[in-house]
Amino acid sequence: MRIVNYTNIPTRVVREIIRFVRPDKRLGRFSMLIDEGKAPWAGVAQFTKSNIFPSLPIEKPTIVIKIPPQGSQIRRSDGRPVDRVEMLVFLLAHELRHFWQGNHPRLVDLEDEKALERDADTYAYERLEDWRCSRNLEVRRVAGE
Ligand SMILES: [Zn+2]
Repeated sequence: MRIVNYTNIPTRVVREIIRFVRPDKRLGRFSMLIDEGKAPWAGVAQFTKSNIFPSLPIEKPTIVIKIPPQGSQIRRSDGRPVDRVEMLVFLLAHELRHFWQGNHPRLVDLEDEKALERDADTYAYERLEDWRCSRNLEVRRVAGE
């Protein structure tokens, strides 16, 4: 896996998040580009020919994630990502779930785009909840509770 990371979130953190949210240990080879910029903050999973970044030596399939720059105001609302790392957790879980869907055509209807998006969001919210729980456990463990 090749990761091009233009944010100041360390790439080892990005890799940790990928390990945490991946729906399948055998994800295969893919590339990932993480950048920051203005809203909308979003991810794209591209399965076939990638010409988004033709100058980059990028493997296909490709995931592209855009998150806010450091210091941006992120609106808090129920269950949604509250900071840039949580945003990465959510967006990576969502996009990796699309790869999983592609590898499990008998479990999902690949023609039903709305259902695929719903499934990817549901998965991403679950993984974000798990991520928060694991962080809380970590904090308590370090604090000796
Ligand atoms: Zn999607």
